[in-house]
Parts: sequence; structure tokens; C-alpha cells
Amino acid sequence: MAAQRLEKAVPTGQVEYFDAIVIGAGVTGLYQLYCLRKLGMAVRVFEDGDGVGGTWYWNRYPGARFDSESFSYGYSFSEELLQEWDWKELYSGQPENERYLNYVADKFDLKRDIRFNSRVASCTFEEDRNTWLVEIADGHRTRAPFLVTAVGLLSAHYIPDFEGLDTYQGQWCHTGRWPKEGMDLAGKRVGVIGTGATAVQLITEIAKEVGHLTVFQRTPNFCAPLRNGPITDEMQREIKASYPEIFRRCSETAGSFVHVFDPRSALDVSAEERQEQYERLWKEPGFAKWLSNFYDLMLPGEANEDYAEFIRNKIRERVHDPEVAEMLVPKDHMFGSKRLPCESGYYEVYNRDNVLLVDVKKAPIQRLTPTGLRTSDAEYELDVIIFATGYDAVTGSLNRIDIRGIGGEQLRDKFSNGPRTYMGIQSNGFPNMFTINAASVGNFVRAAEPLVEWVSECIRYVRENEYVRISPTIEAEDDWVNHVNEAGSKILRSQANSWFVGANIPGKARALLTSPDTAPVMRAKRADVAANGYEGFLLE
Ligand code: NAP
Repeated sequence: MAAQRLEKAVPTGQVEYFDAIVIGAGVTGLYQLYCLRKLGMAVRVFEDGDGVGGTWYWNRYPGARFDSESFSYGYSFSEELLQEWDWKELYSGQPENERYLNYVADKFDLKRDIRFNSRVASCTFEEDRNTWLVEIADGHRTRAPFLVTAVGLLSAHYIPDFEGLDTYQGQWCHTGRWPKEGMDLAGKRVGVIGTGATAVQLITEIAKEVGHLTVFQRTPNFCAPLRNGPITDEMQREIKASYPEIFRRCSETAGSFVHVFDPRSALDVSAEERQEQYERLWKEPGFAKWLSNFYDLMLPGEANEDYAEFIRNKIRERVHDPEVAEMLVPKDHMFGSKRLPCESGYYEVYNRDNVLLVDVKKAPIQRLTPTGLRTSDAEYELDVIIFATGYDAVTGSLNRIDIRGIGGEQLRDKFSNGPRTYMGIQSNGFPNMFTINAASVGNFVRAAEPLVEWVSECIRYVRENEYVRISPTIEAEDDWVNHVNEAGSKILRSQANSWFVGANIPGKARALLTSPDTAPVMRAKRADVAANGYEGFLLE
């Protein structure tokens, strides 16, 4: 018999009781609820928004869409769902993605266990009961032996601390909090701050609509054409017949994408052959040009620089004004050291008369004014300001909750020099809490699904063996943190100043926030740990 009583949402005085609490009703939280429910557990999900979807609920900005192939991004756990759902585009847009996640939630009747409009304020481990007490901002309290934080790795939106924001009289918003009713930008003077993957999608979409657009760019990025298109009926049939093959392919690649690297080095072929491959893949949709290319484009060195120059020249070809083109050409970081934004006419935007690119590295933004913003060398009048300024990634969404473990230790204190976990999943001193936002990178759903299944199986094991606590040993955690630091320092992803290493947030400690291992290696490690009776974890 399980260690904890299986109860159906029975209120205990003022505090509700469940077998598990999940924070977040995005891609991960929904599947976590589905899996725990299958174990016969009573689960409560708390969600800040008033609907399901997480990233695909909040990111309603014009142009938001997948950069992974739609058919590789859906859940794989239900054959019926796979056969029922028709993806309409190769890279599906936000409205359709939100519809999909609602369809899933309705199909599996998940919404009845989700409390919406519920921002979690605090989570406290109750040592005497071995339970987590979760308090919602509105005062609602719930207790459960297991806590899963499915809070997303890019969900704590970041707005730079510009002076004068409170004095600005125009409309403003962060892309991750785009209003549901939309923003009326037609004919207005709009400013966008940031040129990351989000801004690249947004700018392309709104440039045609606004009166005038000013883009405030600090660092240009390497961007590549998405080449989105409709999924025809014939493609649909093919996709539906090949799901097992699609998912098998994804399961074998480093980032869980469908694209497989060319095992040859770019330097082992002639310059002509290299160029031919670059050009051929450039014409293909999505990340093929990146992840089906010579394997060593993803290693620091000559091959990487060769391809970087190929992309720089592509940018130069597309932008008419050579000075503007040069402003858009990235020179301060290696290709692939940041996530490659995929675009659909981004560079051509800068050939429009109503678009101005401003270099805010040269002349930083000093403050917002009642009518716009001021850089160190000019003043800009703006009716609307859009912050496409990114996220306090991975740890940000956890640190915004007051999480306290054994002895009242605060998670945000423990993470002040970077996350301290075992495999991104659990942290010593915070028993029975699974931080599953910290462990997936790449094609998010492909990476998240097996992780959620692992956590569910772990919870089943703990309950069935009547343990009351599971938490990693200090040694296992130290070894993991050392591994992340050592292996992480060698990979391309940790070389740039990006959210991958917390370098986009002033004052945040620099540390790789995700696993340095490939998805197959991570899955194998987790499988070994489970097969060895949860080696590295202390079961009490
Ligand atoms: P981001 O990549 O962190 O970009 C933020 C932008 O804001 C950068 O250009 C940054 O400049 C700029 N910025 C920040 N603070 C600033 C300041 N004080 N002054 C001027 N500029 C400032 O954030 P994001 O574009 O939201 O993308 C985050 C991640 O979300 C991506 O890497 C990707 O993984 C994911 N994403 C995926 C998709 C998709 O297609 N599925 C779409 C969008 C996003 P610096 O570069 O100089 O810091």
C-alpha cells in the first residue's frame, strides 16, 4: 500500500489535501497531471493564467510560432490523439498551439483538476508531516506529499530596470504578457526593445501594420529562414503514418529534433562541396540548415566560423543599405552559441521606409520619458513600447516563488550562485519536490515527455515502497553540479552571453542552467539511476 492515503480532494479544515500538487498547466504540467492521475493519485494543478498552455498561453504576440516541426512537437503518448489532430502548418502559430493544448486538456478531461487564476506565492516543506504546503496569492492553501514545479524554463519575463517606466504615458507590454484582446498598433509609432528569437518573429509581423517602427538592438543574432508552409492532405497522411519513425528519430538526436547531423567534418570536404551543402540546406525548412549540417559547425573552431561567415553574407545580401546590413551582422558570438532565431522576412523589414534600426550598444537606453525613450545620443517619440527583452530563465520562475525546504532553507538562496540540483530534477533539502522545468532543453515536448514519465515512475516507486521522503544526497548533487560546470564549460551553448548561462539578467550568477548532456545521454542516466534503486537519492 502506498505511504500516503489516496484521498479525493478532501478539505482538512482550511487546507485542501491532495496526493500531489503540480504548478503550471503548460506542456509539462498537463502531461504530469495525466501521468499522476493514471497512478490513481488525486492531483491539483495551480495555474497563474485563466487557461492551459503555459508558453503557448502567454506568448500571444504577433508572429509567435514553433521553430520545431509541428508534427514533432505534439504529445506522443496517445495514438488516438496523434491520429485525430491535424497540424495545419509545418511550423504552427500560437493560436493553433493554444487550441491544441486545449484540445488535449479537454480530450483527457484535465481541466477539472486545474485551479486557474492561481498564482503560487509560497511552497513550504512541513517536516513533521512530510508534506508541501502550497499557498496561492489569494490565500488558498493546499497540502500534498509531492510537489512538481512545471513552471517552464522561459516563463519569468524580464523587463530591464529602466528609469522612468512609471512616467511613460503610452501603451507598453512585454511579449510574454501580450494582452489577450491584442494591441492596436495600426498607424502608431512603435518601439521594440530587443532582437532575440521573439523580437525577430514580432518585428517581421508588425512592421507592415505600424505607422513607424523603431527597433532598439543591443546585439544582432544569426537568424535563418524558417520556410514555413501549409501541411497538405497528402503530407498529413504521410505524417500520421510515420509517427513512430518521427519520434524514434527525435529520440536519437542531441536536442530531440528530427534533424540528424551530417557525420562529416565541414573541413573534410572541398570548399565547393561545403558551399553546395550550405546552400542546399539553406533552402530547407526549419533547423535543417543548422542541425542536418556538418557536425562540427556546432563545435568552436574553423568550421563554425566558416558557416558563420556564410550566414553573415546571407544577411548582407538581403539588406539594401550596407550600413544597416553591417549593424545586423553578428560579430561578437559564435554561430550556434545562442538559439538560432528562425525568420520569415526579418531582414527585408529593414529595407522598409517606416523602419529604423538603432544601435543601443553604442548609445544605451538611458531612460523612458513620458513620450518615449532616450538613449545616450537621441530621444525617440513612441506611442507604444514593446519589451522583447527575454526571460530570467529556468531559475527565475522558481525564485519568484518563496520555496522553503528543510530548516526553512530558501531555494532562491540555495540557487544564488546557480542551480544546485541532481540531474536538474531535485535539490537536497527539498524532499519530494521535482523541479522539472530545469531539465529539458531542445525540442521541448520531446525532452519533457520522458522526463515527466521518469518523475511519475519515481513517485510511484516512493509510494509503493512506503517511503515518505526522496531527495538527492549532497554527494550526488555536488557531483552533478561539478559535471554541469566542467562539461558545460566546453559546449557551444555556454560561450555566449545568453539566457542559457543567466548572462542576460544583470547580477545573475553565470552558470549553465540546463544539462550539458544530450537528450539520449540524459535519458540513459536517469534510467540507470532508477534501475539502481534511485542511486544518488536518499529514500526515507
Ligand atoms: P532573448 O533571446 O533573451 O532576447 C532578449 C533581447 O532583449 C536581446 O536582444 C537582448 O539584447 C535584449 N535586451 C535585454 N535587455 C536589454 C537592455 N537593457 N537594453 C537593450 N536590449 C536589451 O529573449 P527572447 O527573444 O524572448 O528568446 C528567449 C528564448 O525563447 C529563445 O532563445 C528561444 O529558446 C525561445 N523562443 C523560441 C521561439 C520559437 O520559435 N519557438 C520564439 C521565441 C523565443 P542582448 O542580446 O544584447 O542581451
